[in-house]
Amino acid sequence: MLRYSQSDIIPNGSNNKDLELNKEDKEMKLSVVGTGYVGLVSGACFAELDNEVICVDIDEEKIEGLRNGIMPIYEPGLKEVVDRNHANGNLEFTTDLAEAVKDSDIIFIAVGTPSTKDGGADLSAVKAVAEVIAENINDYKIVIDKSTVPVGTGDWVEELIAEQMEGDYEFDVVSCPEFLREGSAVGDTMHPDRVIIGSESEKAAEILDDLHQDFDAPIIHTNRYSAEVIKYAANAFLATKISFINEVANICERTGANVEDVAEGIGTDHRISDKFLRAGVGYGGACFPKDTKAFVKTAAENDYDFKVVSSVVEVNRLQKKTLVNKLKTIMPDLEGRTISLLGLAFKPNTDDMREAPSRTVVKQLLEAGAEVKASDPIAMDEAKEIFGDKITYCEDPYDTMKDSDALILVTEWDEFQDLDLNRVKGLLNAPIFIDGRNCYDLEEMKQKGFIYHSVGRPFVNQKDLASFGEIAASK
Ligand code: NAD
Repeated sequence: MLRYSQSDIIPNGSNNKDLELNKEDKEMKLSVVGTGYVGLVSGACFAELDNEVICVDIDEEKIEGLRNGIMPIYEPGLKEVVDRNHANGNLEFTTDLAEAVKDSDIIFIAVGTPSTKDGGADLSAVKAVAEVIAENINDYKIVIDKSTVPVGTGDWVEELIAEQMEGDYEFDVVSCPEFLREGSAVGDTMHPDRVIIGSESEKAAEILDDLHQDFDAPIIHTNRYSAEVIKYAANAFLATKISFINEVANICERTGANVEDVAEGIGTDHRISDKFLRAGVGYGGACFPKDTKAFVKTAAENDYDFKVVSSVVEVNRLQKKTLVNKLKTIMPDLEGRTISLLGLAFKPNTDDMREAPSRTVVKQLLEAGAEVKASDPIAMDEAKEIFGDKITYCEDPYDTMKDSDALILVTEWDEFQDLDLNRVKGLLNAPIFIDGRNCYDLEEMKQKGFIYHSVGRPFVNQKDLASFGEIAASK
């Protein structure tokens, strides 16, 4: 039963943007289960707000590292918050979920929910955590699902705990989906656009209002189903904007229009907004790819064919291939060629390689018989886990270009947006530059003599291709 109207927005009365807190009001005991991008950042930020937080993970190495100040992920500003709160005793790390459950009032589930083979969400980690919660519940607990889970998951978590718990304890299961972005996760967590509390229990909702009061954000109360759907709908909508502008870009390339002008022209309409209108090589990461597929699957399970989001998924799959396809229009035979890649992470400021467009690019190049040299400021270790010795890794971006036959920019890290173009031209065998993120000025690239193909913008110096034919053909 709904205790709150679905659009009941409670404005945040707190002025605590600088996070100065009234310690008397705080100190809830929390566990955050799953110490990844969401769990570790959320746990650290709740500790920063002076709650007692236990971060739990099954990965012993990760927990041991955290106890010694080693961050398992790269996230700007995270280490400072973790170190400070670990030192002052607000933040602990453990693999002992049973004890953490017993010691906490509120338990956040923030484990991974990766794609299953059929595009659904793998909820096995959520189930494993719920079982341990059931076995160790010893008082009133609020169990919060922060992982992205299909609508109805809260119901079965509630049923599972009710069936498996020993004794008769009161508990509530609430859905509080997470919206942080990797690369700015700490800031996003401290200053979210909104907090969603999807609760069937007024008591739990009130406690969670209190817990979230120092975040600089409105709180939206919904029922649990709506909260679960909100997360998927938000990601599917953002992914739709990306696939939409990428398709517009593909039309621009074929018609002489420039997608950046088009994006500005439509984005200044406040109903549309200029956010998520940057054409590129497609979305990646741990969320949009899996969440769009899972949302389509949820629709199908409810006898609904979600045509828009199904197309978004397919457009994105194809978009990831466009960079190598463009290179092939310049250099049809890639066998034995050396191709230099800038950027491997799915976006700047993260080391996350999950569903990164670079994975598609590398696969295509290797399948075509090319040799790949790559550079990324942060994601190189992650990349080595994935590509092993199939590609060559270079710390310095300019080293990747040396004696390469073409350059592909995949991830727009700051350092790749400000390259010394004369040096780049001097290092490459031929000045062929495929830019998947539209980082360079068309006029400048024209003057510098690059064969420069970006996304949704005119192909620079295409007319010079004939004279480069020999370079492209020679090895
Ligand atoms: P992650 O893979 O970075 O972290 C998950 C952690 O859970 C891992 O450290 C893993 O060892 C741990 N874990 C797995 N099973 C466990 C168990 N039984 N007990 C304890 N720990 C266990 O995942 P993430 O990116 O933090 O995502 C977590 C959830 O949040 C997912 O549902 C994801 O869709 C959602 N989400 C992610 C983001 C993002 O940007 N990464 C943003 C919003 C929501």
